[in-house]
Amino acid sequence: MADGATAGPPKSIQGEQHEESGWVRASDEDVDLYVDRVSDEVLTCRERGRHLFPTIRQAGIHFTGVDDDGLLVRRLTCTCCELAVKVEKWEGFRGAGRRTRFRRVASNLEYRTGPDGQIYLAPTGRGHMTPRQIGDSVASKALAGTTLTALRKEATRAAKAEES
Ligand SMILES: [Zn+2]
Repeated sequence: MADGATAGPPKSIQGEQHEESGWVRASDEDVDLYVDRVSDEVLTCRERGRHLFPTIRQAGIHFTGVDDDGLLVRRLTCTCCELAVKVEKWEGFRGAGRRTRFRRVASNLEYRTGPDGQIYLAPTGRGHMTPRQIGDSVASKALAGTTLTALRKEATRAAKAEES
């Protein structure tokens, strides 16, 4: 879905612009620390790799500001983590038949602090976390206390049970 000419490059919420110079992956230790301190909802968005913003049909189209250029500002909060806010800028223009049409010309992501002080972003300067790293960390925590041998045995049993 194109955001129009002035939207700039698509912004990845997980900082996955690998082609961008200076991109550094966060260490597994930093990812583990992050996974420990954030909510399940934040982890869900992180693992999914994107936020869940309501559609226009769901949220309606309401503007809550006008910027210096006269563009209408619309803000949407992620329905999952509730910490990510999509800030859209819309303009009205004269369409065919003199009807006013509207289009979104820019879209930006902001993060707000939750009511209990929750923050979405990891400390800056420690590298970016990928959805895969988050998934790996969550899985490793869930599997803590089991051994690889035990897991292999269990998985083999499960495969046989499926066959029969
Ligand atoms: Zn979210």
